[in-house]
Amino acid sequence: MTGLLTQAEGDPVAIENGDAKGDFLFVCEHASSRLPERLGTLGLPKEALESHIAWDPGALAVSRLLAGKLDGTLIHQRFSRLVYDCNRPPESDAATPVVSEVYEVPGNRAMSAAERQARVDEIYLPFHETVSEFVAARKAVGRQPILVTMHSFTPVYFGKSRSVELGILHDADSRLADRMLAVATTGEVAYDIRRNEPYGPADGVTHSLIEYGVRHGLPNVMIEIRNDLIRNEVGQRVMADYLGGLLARSAAALPKK
Ligand SMILES: [Zn+2]
Repeated sequence: MTGLLTQAEGDPVAIENGDAKGDFLFVCEHASSRLPERLGTLGLPKEALESHIAWDPGALAVSRLLAGKLDGTLIHQRFSRLVYDCNRPPESDAATPVVSEVYEVPGNRAMSAAERQARVDEIYLPFHETVSEFVAARKAVGRQPILVTMHSFTPVYFGKSRSVELGILHDADSRLADRMLAVATTGEVAYDIRRNEPYGPADGVTHSLIEYGVRHGLPNVMIEIRNDLIRNEVGQRVMADYLGGLLARSAAALPKK
């Protein structure tokens, strides 16, 4: 058995405000840059381990503020997406990337089949089960969660600047995304906000939306925030205020089930 996490490292998944009265379920797959001790640095330099390839800077902080504001539940992954990207299924090579943007990840290239399986078993499956069980438990008592997966993206990718500030992403079910885009582009427009940018379903980024939302008929959306906007606490609060209002208004406009 190739163990990955030590007992001291604890549970890979964290739930906050699990008995929330509100219906929003915030999911943050790329919340942390932490690596399990047993993996060392994966052969990466410090600047890579702190960069967007390891995590989504600011996403957890904004998710926490939103869960507080809207009395929602937050479920997040406590380890880096370089170990296992919880927004990808086990059969995807992108779940344990050997190259991420401009960085090679030597520790992912050198991995044995057993080592990769340990990442699936100890990082992905507990996450997948926790979110799935939460959704099932809510549905069992007649409640319908509204799934919001929270991400941030780098302002410069492969040397190219991105002008989009907020991405509203969806897969087959665009009910919530449509309403958010309609609300956000009515009256004064606060941000450069776009549908399925800077990524979309074709990039394989809607795994969580499909698994935890579409599959269960839940309204769902993936939010991508350009990370320079949420670099510090002030920016995070401004963004959470904006998104909190946008989500509340958009959810209120959904047809009653
Ligand atoms: Zn992300």
